Amino acid sequence: MSVSRLFVESDLPGGNEVPLAEAQVHYLRHVMRRPDGAPLLVFNGRDGEWRATFEGRGKKAGVAQVGERVREQAPEPDVWLCFAPVKRARIDYIAEKATELGAAVLQPVLTQHTMVERVNLERLRANTIEAAEQTERLTVPEVRDPIDLARLLAGWPAERRLLMCDETGGGPPIADALAALDPADRAASWAILVGPEGGFAEVELAAIRRMKDVMAVGLGPRILRADTAALAALACWQALVGDWRRPTPRLAADYRTSRAPV
Ligand code: SAM
Repeated sequence: MSVSRLFVESDLPGGNEVPLAEAQVHYLRHVMRRPDGAPLLVFNGRDGEWRATFEGRGKKAGVAQVGERVREQAPEPDVWLCFAPVKRARIDYIAEKATELGAAVLQPVLTQHTMVERVNLERLRANTIEAAEQTERLTVPEVRDPIDLARLLAGWPAERRLLMCDETGGGPPIADALAALDPADRAASWAILVGPEGGFAEVELAAIRRMKDVMAVGLGPRILRADTAALAALACWQALVGDWRRPTPRLAADYRTSRAPV
């Protein structure tokens, strides 16, 4: 029986007992068929990761009895993904994969050619939590309300670098651009911006290019779909600037055992 890993809102260890959401209790009991006493791992994005056991309380309620901490809290690289919303299935895909790829913030951006105006933020958040639970992240990306491109650029944080995926050929290949960064840029906070299926409008491209710390890059000779472009750019950034440059930590043996089926 593998150990279920759950995201909780409460502080940890929180007096050694934290309430589980009804949906989590349902998942443990009826999907994963976990008995009382079943081992869990819990995290809340602030206090690291803790061993716990599941304890049902009545028909629909349950708690996690929290034990020892197995991992200290560690931040994810400070990279935002700013993307024009796409159709539902593909936005779910972006949420799941961008979480796996270590994005810290998911920012839907409304542009002139954006086809999809309404974004189901609750669903987006649920997808990021599920992906964070499965990918052994210690944080869940922040999901922000959709914002117009003009407002996003007008309120752009001065210290944050902007990597704009430009299918019009306005920039060097992404690998060359990122490899040429100086240490200060490498250490800076970043955002990746990807346009809608219809591409950025000329005026939008001009406005983005006028930004202080913007870098337009190419993602190869083919026109990628917006979700592919977003994830490809995030993967390149992680490989050349982010935490993929660090050797993959062999999670401590005892942590692995804590995940191992019992
Ligand atoms: N309608 C646009 C066109 O036909 O030129 C294509 C837009 S593309 C489907 C969606 C977004 O993905 C673009 O705005 C850009 O940000 C990114 N993208 C796709 N392919 C790219 C490439 N080869 N280089 C850089 N960015 C790319």
